[in-house]
Amino acid sequence: MKVITKASEKFMYQYLNATSPTGFEAEGQKIWLEYIKQYVDQTYLDDYGTAYGIINPGKDFKVVIEAHADEIAWYVNYVSDDGYISVIRNGGSDHIIAPSKKVNIHTSNGIVKGVFGWPAIHVRKGKDLNLAPKVDNIFIDVGASDKEEVESLGIHVGCVITFDDELSSLNDKYYVGKALDNKMGGFCIAEVARLIHNNKIELPYSLYIVNSVQEEIGLRGAEMIANHIKPNVAIITDVTHDTSSPMMKAKEQGDLKGGKGPVLTYAPAVHNKLLQLIIETAEKNEIPYQRSAASRSTGTDTDAFAYSSSGVPAALISLPLKYMHTTVEMAHKEDIESVTALIYQSLLAIQNGHSFKYF
Ligand SMILES: [Zn+2]
Repeated sequence: MKVITKASEKFMYQYLNATSPTGFEAEGQKIWLEYIKQYVDQTYLDDYGTAYGIINPGKDFKVVIEAHADEIAWYVNYVSDDGYISVIRNGGSDHIIAPSKKVNIHTSNGIVKGVFGWPAIHVRKGKDLNLAPKVDNIFIDVGASDKEEVESLGIHVGCVITFDDELSSLNDKYYVGKALDNKMGGFCIAEVARLIHNNKIELPYSLYIVNSVQEEIGLRGAEMIANHIKPNVAIITDVTHDTSSPMMKAKEQGDLKGGKGPVLTYAPAVHNKLLQLIIETAEKNEIPYQRSAASRSTGTDTDAFAYSSSGVPAALISLPLKYMHTTVEMAHKEDIESVTALIYQSLLAIQNGHSFKYF
């Protein structure tokens, strides 16, 4: 099944290139809602920014497919008298990759450009040669001479900062860029909505296509919306580590490789019968898949849905991703197609009032 079209790829680029830092997801959410609007019967936006579309609203049985909308970022935490900006994380941003990156500082005057500077290799003598970036030594330079000049640009403590980078294609096989975690998931669920609409599928239940905020700081948007929707079933999509690149440890982190298909996770929060339905769906439709195991929690919105209300049968379909939380996250195009196809086909296999009775 070919999923990505010229038009949907255009949406993918627009959506991924929009910024959606945790807590400030509006720009991305507007684009996402605008796109899915044409494929759903109703849309909804909660007060913290989680958005969803409903296909076939009003049924007693509710099925959720979900991704998270937010991307990792930084906060301005301190401005020195000589005009350098210190940061703290907003989500799991990686200090190691920061030096020499260009950044966008989001202010009420719009974007202010900056760079993470770093002392030159020539001047790093002795033990400083391998001086390591840390959250408390990295700094942003916006080209200002002092604190007043920084403030005059509209920058203040609490402004959010993102890396300045755009989505691109690599060797025709991979998409590469920042925030594929998990905006590529938002793309996949939007594509599922498009397929259901265009293929004129009549679902026997209400389908909620949910793009949650604030996952990167602890699954918060999903917690809120799960308790609002109170679904009967939830299929979550997120990214997981492709462990095939240098220095990854397949034995510890799971033996997963881009291009070999979606990853299905075994974990206490994952409902065995729903997982079994997804595996059977993959096999029946010849969609490749890989397996992973998570001790305790999955660390994804799956946990938030599974443990909401009095328990919601939930499962996780993950996209293998290289270099997570860098600006060169890489996802294989065939995996994006397969994640979308697997969610779509699984929805077709779920019946009205589907029983997930434990035994
Ligand atoms: Zn993440």
